[in-house]
Amino acid sequence: MLAACRDATPRVREFDGAAAFRYIETQVGFGPRVPGTEAHRRAATWLETELRQRADTLVVQSWTHVTAKGDSLPLTNFIARFRPSVGKRLLFLAHWDSRPTADSPTSPDSTKPVLGANDGGSGVATLLGVADVLKRTPPTIGVDLLFVDGEDYGDFTDAPKDVLIGSRYYAVHPVSGPQPLYAVLFDLVADKDLQIFEEGNSLVGAPEVVDLVWNTAKDLGYAGTFVATPKHTLIDDHLELQKVGIRAIDVVDFDYPSWHTIHDTLDKVSAASLQIVGDVAVALVRREEN
Ligand SMILES: [Zn+2]
Repeated sequence: MLAACRDATPRVREFDGAAAFRYIETQVGFGPRVPGTEAHRRAATWLETELRQRADTLVVQSWTHVTAKGDSLPLTNFIARFRPSVGKRLLFLAHWDSRPTADSPTSPDSTKPVLGANDGGSGVATLLGVADVLKRTPPTIGVDLLFVDGEDYGDFTDAPKDVLIGSRYYAVHPVSGPQPLYAVLFDLVADKDLQIFEEGNSLVGAPEVVDLVWNTAKDLGYAGTFVATPKHTLIDDHLELQKVGIRAIDVVDFDYPSWHTIHDTLDKVSAASLQIVGDVAVALVRREEN
C-alpha cells in the first residue's frame, strides 16, 4: 500500500543533540547566570547574538524587578519569532537564569549558587537547537521561542515570591497577534537518567496538550522516556501562562538528585537526552504543518 510505504520512510533527524549539548557547555562556561552578575550579562549577550542569527524577529523585553528584600534585578526575556505574521503558532519556553543559592535540603553547601547545567541550561539548549532546525528548514506555521529570566531567583515555598518573574512579565506583556495553539515549557530535560512523567498542573490546565506531546514522543519510539503516567505536581513557568488562558504544559524530569545543589554540573547531563527532547519538540512543529 502506498500509505504504508510512505509511513515506512525513515524520518530525517533534524535536531542535533551534540550541538545542543555544546549550548549547555557554553552556558556553564559563563558560570551561574544569576541576575545582576557578570555571568548573567555575558549569557544575555551570547543568547541575543545566537537568536538574532536564527530567528526572523527577536523581541527583547528588559525591565527591573524589585525583590521582596528591596534589591533591584535587571531582567531580560527574549522571544525568538519564526514567521511572526502567521496566525497558527506554537510557543516553546525555558528559563535562562540560574539560582543564586544551592538551597535544596540535600545540598551540601547552600552558600553557593547553582551552576544550572540542567536547571536552566538544558531548556535553553533545547530551544536553541530547535532554532537551528527552524533556521535550516523554516516552519510553515509560526513558532515563538521564549527565554524567560528570573524563574529561579527566590522562594518557591509557602507563598512563592521572586520566582517565575519572566513568565509573569511575558503573560502581562505578550507579543502582539494571536495566542499560540498551545505552549510547552522545557525544564530539567538533559539528565543522563532521563524519565519524563506527566506533570500534575499540566494535566489540570491542558490535558489534551499532555496527550499530544506524550503521543508524539511515543510515535518517535520514546515511550520509555516520556512515561505516560502522572508523578510530580510543580509550580513552574507554565502556570503563569495558564493564568492568561494559554494552554501551557511542563515537560520536566523532576527526579534529579542534583536539583538546587552545587552538583548540577555538566557531568550530569547528556547529548542523548537532549536528542530525545529536541526530536519531540521538532516533531510537534512538523505535525502542525500537515
Ligand atoms: Zn531551579
